[in-house]
Amino acid sequence: MCGGCNGGAEANGSATNGTNGSVQHPVQNRSASSPYQSVGDYLSNVGKFKIIESTLREGEQFANAFFDTETKVKIAKALDSFGVDFIELTSPVASEQSFKDCKTICGLGLKAKILTHVRCNMEDAKAAVATGVDGVDLVIGTSSFLREFSHGKSMAYIQKTAIEVIEYLKGEGVQVRFSSEDSFRSDLVDLLSLYKAVDTAGVQRVGIADTVFNSGGATPRMVYDLVRTLRGVVHCDIETHFHDDTGCAVANAHAALEAGATHIDTSVLGIGERNGITPLGAFMARMVVTSPDYVKSKYNLKELKALETLVADAVQINIPFNNPVTGFCAFTHKAGIHAKAILNNPSTYEIINPEDFGLNRYVSISSRITGWNAVKSRVDQLGLKMSDEQVKEVTAKIKQLADIRPLAIDDTDSILRSFHAEQVEGSGTY
Ligand SMILES: [Zn+2]
Repeated sequence: MCGGCNGGAEANGSATNGTNGSVQHPVQNRSASSPYQSVGDYLSNVGKFKIIESTLREGEQFANAFFDTETKVKIAKALDSFGVDFIELTSPVASEQSFKDCKTICGLGLKAKILTHVRCNMEDAKAAVATGVDGVDLVIGTSSFLREFSHGKSMAYIQKTAIEVIEYLKGEGVQVRFSSEDSFRSDLVDLLSLYKAVDTAGVQRVGIADTVFNSGGATPRMVYDLVRTLRGVVHCDIETHFHDDTGCAVANAHAALEAGATHIDTSVLGIGERNGITPLGAFMARMVVTSPDYVKSKYNLKELKALETLVADAVQINIPFNNPVTGFCAFTHKAGIHAKAILNNPSTYEIINPEDFGLNRYVSISSRITGWNAVKSRVDQLGLKMSDEQVKEVTAKIKQLADIRPLAIDDTDSILRSFHAEQVEGSGTY
């Protein structure tokens, strides 16, 4: 975004990687267990990030979402059990029921800290405190675009109001995050001076979001530059929030962590405004590769599928076929050459181990591109005894039939059983 500011920040020696003002470097957090570690540097937080899970805030903005209290409680408990650090809820001033639901979830006694997301004014802040939340996420539009067309307020006014609200919340003993809604369209000098002021005022986190920048249009490079610059200006934690309109939300989250961000906003299956934000599951897929020890020790990955199914049912959608980890074909191997390698050593074509998520890989043999090694594996699974030559012969039969019509796994199993009966037992027909 601004190389001059970035360089200036480094020259001042004020770059930190959080948390809450402590200068901690060098930090690598690399695990020896994966060859796919981030390049990273002392700013990188890829091995010690926190998740602010916003299914119950951003997710309520999803086109299909209607969460009654019971559903919200179920989702909050599932998120807590999964191990997210924070659960963010819809503003209590959105509606009467929203206020009640905030109170209800605060009363559940979850391990995750409960946050709510409100506009940066005293009235909203007081309503938030009245619900019993652990923290309040303040948001204000700061771009000149919004200043002109939305609330028409000057930066000086924004800063004065922000400090008053922050002082109030600090006095109430709750955590405070201050965020601009549209960081990537804001004037950089305006944004940095505002964030420096709220940092000095004692917020726990500042947040940046690409909510309206060409509709989720920030690239990883832009994110890296902005977070890197901000890291040099504030000492508090940095939270980031990315929309997925251009398919960059996970990559942007990863780039933000590499640049020193500490907290990532997610929602289950990415549900949110338009096509949503960084999906929790896809983010876990990315991070379990980058920082396997951290992710596996902190999050209950085996609960991901049930969590996604819960939310998918609640908003009446299917889990997409190509969803990382839980898409129906995420661990399906089909081409003969892949299948052979996978059967010998899964890491050849699997960057993620399905067992980490309580799932199984599946080798598809019902196609013209299958190979005899894969068929042999299925033969073994079915408990049929065949020589390699026999397996090769039946593989040829499968390929012949698969050239003519699609085969279901049942079809292929029938072919294997019939062939076995004919060849091995000398009875039956094929
Ligand atoms: Zn958003």
